[in-house]
Amino acid sequence: MQVFETIAAFRTARKGYAALGFVPTMGFLHEGHLGLVRRAKAENGAVAVSIFVNPTQFGPNEDYASYPRDPDRDLALLKDAGADLVFLPTPDVLYPPGFATRIEAGGVADELEGQSRPGHFSGVATVVTKLFNIVQPQRAYFGQKDAQQCAVVRRFVADLDIPVEIVVCDIARETDGLARSSRNVRLTPENRQKAPALYEALQEAARLFRSGERNTDVLEGALRVSLIKAGLPDIDYATVVNADTFRREGSCSENALALLAVKAGAVRLIDNMPL
Ligand code: AMP
Repeated sequence: MQVFETIAAFRTARKGYAALGFVPTMGFLHEGHLGLVRRAKAENGAVAVSIFVNPTQFGPNEDYASYPRDPDRDLALLKDAGADLVFLPTPDVLYPPGFATRIEAGGVADELEGQSRPGHFSGVATVVTKLFNIVQPQRAYFGQKDAQQCAVVRRFVADLDIPVEIVVCDIARETDGLARSSRNVRLTPENRQKAPALYEALQEAARLFRSGERNTDVLEGALRVSLIKAGLPDIDYATVVNADTFRREGSCSENALALLAVKAGAVRLIDNMPL
């Protein structure tokens, strides 16, 4: 496994690979990330991983400074998972003095997370485009955990004619159902106990949907009740949308997607489930 901090050094090493899968991450890796890495390796023969906590996708009152970081542990995990190339830039490598360009993501990017976190998807689109240009992968692997991010990436890749195939991988969960996330380590013990309620709320909505319920108000009501009962009343959104548009419909279509964003103390948790 080779590790690079500069674009030039990474590009030189990249020339040694005919095909490459790519997994962009913000580090503090867990089994969710490692599943993407293993799949990318299996499907492409070689895999590059980036570790970069991207400042431009965090809002001024968000957790950029406190986002967990442990590059030494990450590199050991990546070596075990079979990573070939690791790109570990500092912010000044990707945003040198004079940097002045941003991609404005529209469409699905305007909904949900786009409302709660203004500028977030623009930051994601800009950094992922830069990483695609640096890594030049055949395929890039993203997690369904960030369902809306996957839709935004698919959109700008198509719109900007970027020659990369986007692969979306299932959500890796803890044994109690909590979606794995780098942020989970920041949960207090009490909130860690409450946190599986997101998965339980989604399962409850899925049960209702399977039993024939299509009224979005009813499904969303069930999501909210589950969360509040579990002691997680600080709900950013608990909604059911069309998975293509990320827009709410009064009566759910067959490709309905339930999504949650909930604050558990200082930690914002997200999760989702296709119904
Ligand atoms: P992050 O480091 O949080 O930016 O995540 C990097 C990539 O890993 C993104 O494509 C995420 O969607 C994906 N990912 C994060 N958590 C999970 C999870 N629990 N299961 C599957 N993929 C995940």
